[in-house]
Amino acid sequence: MTYPVTYYCPRCETVVELPRDGYLADKSVTPHPLDGWTYVSVDEDYESDEAEGVRFVCGSDGSARDPDAEGCGRPFFLSFVRRGTTEAGSAIDVSR
Ligand SMILES: [Zn+2]
Repeated sequence: MTYPVTYYCPRCETVVELPRDGYLADKSVTPHPLDGWTYVSVDEDYESDEAEGVRFVCGSDGSARDPDAEGCGRPFFLSFVRRGTTEAGSAIDVSR
C-alpha cells in the first residue's frame, strides 16, 4: 500500500508528491546532492535498495502536485536515511 508524501522544492516551494510505501526514513531535501549518494529520478525505482534518494526536477518531471505548477525547472534532492549508517541515522529529527 502506497500513499502520497509531499515535499517542498527548497528553491521555489513548489509542492511535489511522491507515492511511498512502508516506513518513511527521509533525511533531508536539499538543492544539491549529498556527496557519494545515489539518486534516481521519480520515474525509477526509488524504493529499491540501491536508491539512496530521489532527484526531482522542479515542475518538469511530473512530480508536481499541482499539474499547472511551473516550478523553477531546477533539480533538488530528497535523501533517504541510509540503513545501518549511524551518522545519517543520528541526523533524523526525532522531535517530530
Ligand atoms: Zn522549484
